Amino acid sequence: MINVRKGRAVFVETWGCQMNDLDGRRLVGLLLREGFSEAPSAEEADVVLLNTCSVRDKAEQKVYDRLGRLALVKKKRPGMVIGVCGCVAQQEGEQLLERVSCVDFVLGTGRIESLPAVLRRVDEEGDRPVEVGFDLDQVAYTPGSIAHALPYRAAITVIEGCNKNCTFCVVPTTRGRERSRNMDDVVAEAARLVGDGVVELELLGQTVNAYRDPGTGKGLADLLGEIGGLPGLRRLRFVTSHPRNFDDRLIQAMADTPTACRYLHLPVQSGSDRLLGRMKRQYTRQEYVSLVTRLRRAMPDLALSTDVIVGFPGEGEGDFEETLSLLEEVRFTAVYSFTYSPRPHTAAARWESDVPPRVASERLARLMDLQRDIQRAINTELVGRTLEVLVEGTDRRGSRLAGRSACNRVVNFDGDGVQVGQFAKVIIEKGLPNSLAGRLLGPA
Ligand code: SF4
Repeated sequence: MINVRKGRAVFVETWGCQMNDLDGRRLVGLLLREGFSEAPSAEEADVVLLNTCSVRDKAEQKVYDRLGRLALVKKKRPGMVIGVCGCVAQQEGEQLLERVSCVDFVLGTGRIESLPAVLRRVDEEGDRPVEVGFDLDQVAYTPGSIAHALPYRAAITVIEGCNKNCTFCVVPTTRGRERSRNMDDVVAEAARLVGDGVVELELLGQTVNAYRDPGTGKGLADLLGEIGGLPGLRRLRFVTSHPRNFDDRLIQAMADTPTACRYLHLPVQSGSDRLLGRMKRQYTRQEYVSLVTRLRRAMPDLALSTDVIVGFPGEGEGDFEETLSLLEEVRFTAVYSFTYSPRPHTAAARWESDVPPRVASERLARLMDLQRDIQRAINTELVGRTLEVLVEGTDRRGSRLAGRSACNRVVNFDGDGVQVGQFAKVIIEKGLPNSLAGRLLGPA
């Protein structure tokens, strides 16, 4: 074990996707093993790690704003160490140190396991290390070192990186090329977590369905078969799937695995073939819709969510209307929609952004209005149904219990007698655009 100064407290602030969340817990876990404790806030911590996201320009700007405020805290507490980790670290590297003087080190997404060694260099050598880059053919990962935040739910990274190079996306730069973990390691980690009481597992990857065991070539369909039947596991999810990598074998494996949730996040990005081509998404609208049809044939109750970019360079009113018509055709249960923002090192960043921001914002508002109506209608169709809800806490007002269904809906409900981390049977009484309301029937 590397000797970093013990007895200190670490605070990790995470932005972005589930993979970043999990990386945040990996960073905490690595330092807990070194004798650290976890601080309740950055202001009370000896080591502050900003686990950053660069998927949109706004997310990146937030990091610099946060660093400005942390610099003031550090002035009052000179011993404080500030590290920038995650995607902005990977993308900016050395420049971050030059731009922000309060930063003590930069740690990229492919170098998480080096955290204790990097801290030692800061402590003992007064260095300002920059550790970025990737091991080309493997995922460096210490199973068992992750400080999972909840006892009943956990995530496991199965594949890192992406080989797709969509023209808008910074992920191939910030996360590198695809590297899959050994299936045996993933299955052993899943078994250990489920043995420890985890009832809901999520398998993670930027393109999770591109997973291939490096030795045997077995894919996500095989992995679902291996993990889905672990005694005690109630729910198995995986995210994010690329439509191009979703074959019939995976559809069948999902349908045949009772613990596999009937919910899938399947980013489409646009309903226009012309834009899908410019984005290099590697599928047409028709291919996407045909995949949805095959998925729903195998799993009629499948809930689908998606991502959409509005205002991509070259998007005309006609292209945008095709996106709206796709939403009407597929009827997603949730759409994560954003206006396009150019990212460094991407092909589209070199193109003229010819959709004025005002037009992009108006289109986004129209899309959200339409989707709100669709969600209200879909959720209203669930009235009278009984759903199994994993209890997570209370609603915002603290007056009702709240949790998620297997189809990933937020369900707020009246009743008592079930605890956080337990399953409840809830009858749905009302469908709202972003949640369901119901009444507890009993434990499930
Ligand atoms: S498939 Fe996803 S992660 Fe990969 S480049 Fe495209 S948008 Fe980015």
